[in-house]
Amino acid sequence: MNLHEYQGKEILASYGVTIQRGKIATTPEEAVKAAKELTEETGTGWHVIKAQVHAGGRGKGGGVKLAKSLDDVKKISGEIIGMDLVTPQTSAEGKRVHQVLIAEDVYEPGDVEVEEFYMSVLLDRAKGQNMIMYSTEGGMDIETVAEETPHLIFTEHIDPSHGLQGFQARRIAFNLGLSGKAFKEMTKFVAKLYNAYVGSDSALFEINPVIKASNETIIAVDCKITLDENALFRHKDLEAMRDIREENATEVEARAVGLNYVDLDGNVGCMVNGAGLAMATMDLIKQAGFEPANFLDVGGTADAKRVEEAFKIILKDKGVKAILVNIFGGIVRCDRVAEGIIAAKKSMGDAMNVPLIVRLQGTNAEIAKELIDNSGMDVQSAIEFQEAADKVQAVLA
Ligand code: GDP
Ligand code: MN
Repeated sequence: MNLHEYQGKEILASYGVTIQRGKIATTPEEAVKAAKELTEETGTGWHVIKAQVHAGGRGKGGGVKLAKSLDDVKKISGEIIGMDLVTPQTSAEGKRVHQVLIAEDVYEPGDVEVEEFYMSVLLDRAKGQNMIMYSTEGGMDIETVAEETPHLIFTEHIDPSHGLQGFQARRIAFNLGLSGKAFKEMTKFVAKLYNAYVGSDSALFEINPVIKASNETIIAVDCKITLDENALFRHKDLEAMRDIREENATEVEARAVGLNYVDLDGNVGCMVNGAGLAMATMDLIKQAGFEPANFLDVGGTADAKRVEEAFKIILKDKGVKAILVNIFGGIVRCDRVAEGIIAAKKSMGDAMNVPLIVRLQGTNAEIAKELIDNSGMDVQSAIEFQEAADKVQAVLA
């Protein structure tokens, strides 16, 4: 689950990480009020208006702008709120901006030049350890740095049984070329950042840029956080940060009925039980030369009601040209699943407007096939996967 920048910064601040402070606004009037309050609280003269959408590269798309007066704040907020922001990370239609973050300007010139760094915390699955990835090349997109100057990207792996060690935080500060007060500040920054990552059960933190401000403090200027959905049950406060306006509408609907659904680009809709089988089915569909339209795990139950809900979700995608059901009947016997599918198909009538191919394997598979074949419904049955793939091929041809 992704968060907005302002939400991510709230989490960071709660762990003592120094952030570029700001206030959220949904209208130009609120923006001006927020800017005034921010000036009182922080002493900032200028403000940065930042579009809050789930996409990076906002600066490049005109979603991050500096305001040098309250009139600027009002004008710029008015332009950004309601716009469809197009960035290198959005589709061509862009993302509608519902709110802006009015932030203090932390780049004001001082005795020392502002420096921008890149820092992320994520899981290195191959090593089974969290890692901090960081670079002296902050502010630009890290993919370009990785391509053109890979030697400027550093990583620090953290042993889960020891946690982040002091020498590791110092190595990071050293590699970033810091000294004196900024060096110390960075070691504290890194330690708190890592605590925040672990404490919030996050899957990704990306802070780009982290800056060394002119007073040598280290500040998180941007913040992209992805939370681990599997840990949300123990973070009700974080779960409440979900902004469904930013999410795929069908995925939101599927979640509401307890279906595990991910929208994809192909034309073969899949309905499968179990995440592992769903992954394998997608592989097999690709191997057979087709493209899956979705990932869908219906879970342990496959009764008529649930199957119908799943079919309806799949059919919301107008690109779907055929539906392949691939279910393994273990504890849920295949004949029971077949009955559920037949009942769902009957109940849906014309709403089921694409060919349906059903492969049931496992307990009572033969009986299930007979039930389907004798149902009088337009459903094609199969027991072996190749058989099912051939039938998909025939209906798509
Ligand atoms: P992104 O484009 O979505 O990654 O959004 P960021 O939050 O990283 O902001 C984009 C850019 O805006 C940063 O790389 C900075 O160059 C600039 N920026 C952000 N905050 C400030 C600020 O306080 N003052 C000034 N002058 N520029 C800022
Ligand atoms: Mn950024």
